[in-house]
Amino acid sequence: MVTGERETSGVTTQLILTYVRERGGEAALQDLLVRAEVPETRDELLDETRWTSYTTRIRLFEAAVAVLDDPRCPYEMGAVALRLGLHHSLVLVLRALGSPRQVYRQLPRSVPKFSTTSTMELVECGGSSAVFRYRLHDGYRHSRLDCLYAQGLMCVIPEIFGLPSAEMVHEECESDGADACIYRLRWTHRSRLPFRRRRVVADGPELLALRGLLRTLQSTTAELVGGHDLDTVLRRITERAASAVVAPAHLLAVLDPETGTPQIHSIGIADEDLPTLAGRLLAGEDLGPHVVAVEVRSARRLHGQLAAIYPSNQQGPENERPMLTAYAGHAAAALDLVLALESSRRGESRSASLLELAHRLRAASDAQTVAEVVVAMLPQVVGCDSSSVRAWNPSAGHLETLASSGLDERERALVQTTFIRADETPELVDVLTRHETGIITVDDATPSLRAWLIELDLDGFAVAPLLADQTMLGVATAAWRTGQMPTNTEEALVRLRGVGEYAATALQNARLWDTVRHQSLHDALTGLPNRVLLTRTLERALADATGDGGVAVLYCDLDQFKHVNDSSGHPAGDELLRQVAARLLGVLRPGDMVGRLSGDEFALVLPGVPDPLVATGVAERVLRCFAEPFRIEGQRMRVTTSVGVAVHVGSGGRVDQLLRDADAGMYAAKQRGRNQFGFLPCRDDDAGSVDTAAFRARTDASELEQELRRALSRNELRLFFQPVVEINDGAGETTGPEMRLAGAEALLRWEHPRLGTLAPEAFLTLAEEVGLISDFDLWAVAEACYAVAGWPSDEKLPHVAVNLSSAALLDPRLYDVVRSALSDADIAPEQLHLEVVESRALLDVPVVVERLNELRRLGVSISLDDFGTGYSTLAWLQRLPVDRIKVDRTFTAELGRSASAQALVRGIFALAAELGVGVVAEGVETTEQLTELRRAGCRLFQGYLLGRPEPRMPALAPPPLAGHPSLH
Ligand code: C2E
Ligand code: CA
Ligand code: CA
Repeated sequence: MVTGERETSGVTTQLILTYVRERGGEAALQDLLVRAEVPETRDELLDETRWTSYTTRIRLFEAAVAVLDDPRCPYEMGAVALRLGLHHSLVLVLRALGSPRQVYRQLPRSVPKFSTTSTMELVECGGSSAVFRYRLHDGYRHSRLDCLYAQGLMCVIPEIFGLPSAEMVHEECESDGADACIYRLRWTHRSRLPFRRRRVVADGPELLALRGLLRTLQSTTAELVGGHDLDTVLRRITERAASAVVAPAHLLAVLDPETGTPQIHSIGIADEDLPTLAGRLLAGEDLGPHVVAVEVRSARRLHGQLAAIYPSNQQGPENERPMLTAYAGHAAAALDLVLALESSRRGESRSASLLELAHRLRAASDAQTVAEVVVAMLPQVVGCDSSSVRAWNPSAGHLETLASSGLDERERALVQTTFIRADETPELVDVLTRHETGIITVDDATPSLRAWLIELDLDGFAVAPLLADQTMLGVATAAWRTGQMPTNTEEALVRLRGVGEYAATALQNARLWDTVRHQSLHDALTGLPNRVLLTRTLERALADATGDGGVAVLYCDLDQFKHVNDSSGHPAGDELLRQVAARLLGVLRPGDMVGRLSGDEFALVLPGVPDPLVATGVAERVLRCFAEPFRIEGQRMRVTTSVGVAVHVGSGGRVDQLLRDADAGMYAAKQRGRNQFGFLPCRDDDAGSVDTAAFRARTDASELEQELRRALSRNELRLFFQPVVEINDGAGETTGPEMRLAGAEALLRWEHPRLGTLAPEAFLTLAEEVGLISDFDLWAVAEACYAVAGWPSDEKLPHVAVNLSSAALLDPRLYDVVRSALSDADIAPEQLHLEVVESRALLDVPVVVERLNELRRLGVSISLDDFGTGYSTLAWLQRLPVDRIKVDRTFTAELGRSASAQALVRGIFALAAELGVGVVAEGVETTEQLTELRRAGCRLFQGYLLGRPEPRMPALAPPPLAGHPSLH
């Protein structure tokens, strides 16, 4: 099956040519080629993958002897083979054998790699000597030169190991009429070099070979990716494999993924044999011991087979298999890429630039960047002279330029300042309303557009609408200079449409990002800045504060807001918060900011306060703006607020301190009977004094505090468990979604001897203030681990999530407690999830990040709780090492109510996917919310709909929801 005249490996002919050139220069090489009179060209002889005839080899030896005038030069050629770059993989294989003795034992099997005309046998082999019998096959005339070459090659082997070359006694030669050549070799174990190891490391044959191999592999990737059609790429893969594995013939057979037809490439195989051979190879048939075949397989698919084929009377060297496999794997990956390229090309004739465009668009996260990327690529992709992206402004009814390219400064200025009005350009409106790409030329443009085109020296332009779900976002245009417009614009239109689709998706994503960015700094309910933006503003104000200027913070907490919620319901509570926000905005002076911190807490930041009295003046105005009753759902509702005021004068103010002081002032106001403000006197850098009223207010809680201190020792703390449910799309239409219990969140309760079971909000703040919270949390960790150990499970172990306060996170005992809890309860670390809430305190201490990392190294997962409220921001999400975020229930609650909440939730999921973190949606109360969350890509849910917190572990069987129509 192997075509004739495939008797000498290209490695040998290449070696002869290289050797002659090294010794005699280019002229000698030319001379060699003339004298040898072989049919092959110089390039063919230098090609490692190309095999030639025995005659060619002998002629080359004879010519070399004549040209160099050195009858022993073939011996030299063999001896310097390593230095001249004998095949890389072979040197590695040889060296891996460990000693000259081992190599000599393997040598007979390596011969077919270089020649198919002779057979070598090892007659005997000792520790430092070996005897070989080397016989030319019948029908060939023995050559003394060939014999010398073989001797050189054999003698050089010890050099691979840094030893002196072997000595050779050759008394019986076929050329003298002997039956075969007998080679007797003797070598020593003594290094010929004092620093053998160092030399081997520095430039030994192994390293040379490794470098060569690496070069080949590296160039392969680059070449393959640069390849333009599948055929070229397949041919290159075959050639590459052939140069990596020396064999007389190679065959690559893969199935075309689209048509299923075999694609075959080969070297050294007769055409008539190809189809059968390829068919058998693809069918996975064993072709016999002379064929070394490996799969061309990537993670995506099995492409086919790659085989190195030796003459049928020989055995394929098994030690070539790893090399061939490595190559096939490498090729498969490249093939994947090429196939992906190919199919996209076939589908829409998009060019490589289009792929690059897509790649660059992925990294663009705002509309301006998207527009800039698109205009930069358009001329290349479409083949036009200039381009632009314009945004549709629906209220103004015109298109405004976001970015342009291919224009000089004057033209760009003109483009930037000219709006294309819809009412003046019916031809454009026509293109846009049909939602199709179109061409507008200078000849058929309306007067205003024509004047503009002439001004810009343009023949016309192609325009593609940028649509997202039928919403017009804008247009992309590709324009041609006068005289440059192609007669057939079909191809340009197709390409522009392709770009338009990418651009529209990218713009839509950018808008989502904008929303996410905005929402991460604003409160979804009231639209006010959230805690993050507020603290950032305060930080800046304090940093800017100089000399005697002051910065004030007003902390407002509605009085008895819980009562509103309980008696009138949450929607009424929400409406009240929105109206409060509006009223507070009315109190602001220019430059002031009001934000919502959480629930019913608002704060005002007043940067330029010349006198503390100004701050108390604003506080009075805040109180007054509550004087008028609110009107909620047709009812008049009287609501008041308590305000804490804190002022910092001079530089060096600290955000946390000022917020704490304002909080203390507010607390004092509440204690004094609400609907008033409490004022902490001015503080400067060193003043440690805090209003005594605030202190007094705190000590009132002492009775509860005493009880709380005893709660742990009296065994009054309990854990409740709320299920976390995983819902996946079912396998088929009829099976419906699959639900399973993923785990549960442990929630703390206090069995108070008189007051009954208390929820965390009734005692956690106090526990935090008196320094008990960390003890509680550590207790919860151990308790939760025990609880989860007893749960039944399916094949996936359930987890238990425990909440950690920042105090617990900073507690030096935490790590050991977690570790012994895991081992005492004998649960897998993955079963324990720790929930943390971001806070400034955490980020101010770099130790926290290290703590979290330590815990993660144990195998424990970290969840970021209450994501989307308070301190949670995208930026911090990137800084904290977390595995999962828990989307706060305020988001879930907003879902049904506002369209922006839906976009936002989708944005959060996209972001989470981008960062590789999981998401749990909290507070799922209705099936509508569940449906919307699932649409956004959510898989993990927690909320009353799926189960309330219970004193026992949740049931393994999912709640009776599976049949609910909204799940389908
Ligand atoms: P969290 O970590 O956000 O826990 C979820 C809270 O939402 C729980 O309130 C839970 O009962 C409630 N919830 C769950 N599903 C729904 C729903 O569908 N609708 C509504 N409206 N609420 C739902 P809980 O048990 O009162 O806990 C309140 C907070 O107390 C927790 O908020 C957590 O921050 C804190 N906490 C609870 N246990 C511990 C603890 O052991 N250590 C610490 N440091 N904090 C804890
Ligand atoms: Ca939690
Ligand atoms: Ca939460």
